[in-house]
Amino acid sequence: MNCPCSRDPQVPHVTNCKVCHNTTCPDCELFQPLQRECPQCQTITMHMDEDTRCKNDCFQCPNCETALTVLLAKSSRKKRYKFTCKHCDYDYVTPSMSVTDERSISQIVDHLNETLNVEYLRFQELKKNIELGGGIDNVVVLPLCGDDVILPRRTKLVCQFQSICPHCYHVVD
Ligand SMILES: [Zn+2]
Ligand SMILES: [Zn+2]
Ligand SMILES: [Zn+2]
Ligand SMILES: [Zn+2]
Repeated sequence: MNCPCSRDPQVPHVTNCKVCHNTTCPDCELFQPLQRECPQCQTITMHMDEDTRCKNDCFQCPNCETALTVLLAKSSRKKRYKFTCKHCDYDYVTPSMSVTDERSISQIVDHLNETLNVEYLRFQELKKNIELGGGIDNVVVLPLCGDDVILPRRTKLVCQFQSICPHCYHVVD
């Protein structure tokens, strides 16, 4: 049996299934997600549902998704990390922390994310209170961190697919 589309099976890149011996053209080949891979550190995960971002210290620009360069600025007591995008003008510098801070860069960024969220929620709450007439009179409440602080994103994993024979649904390699 030839390809389901009944086109000439001589088109280039026809796949021959080793199980049912049918041929398939590239248009009729089926694909199923196999695994996810980080384009930066090449780590592979099979946890398709849970892991959509790299768990290592891989970051991408929140504006254009280019891989970010991370630099460490260190003095005798303090250190901070600077993330720079080579493609657009995005950069981000972490608050300074102790040189003895042993957290990984991703742990630091995760923590900053949580802090920003907590502060943002607190600000929203205060604002609502004031708008409802409760709250503090004549006090201007400003968020501790502006809404425009955008942290580096963990790198999005890329899904890899395997091809499936449309005749017998076995994996074709
Ligand atoms: Zn076909
Ligand atoms: Zn990675
Ligand atoms: Zn960018
Ligand atoms: Zn087959």
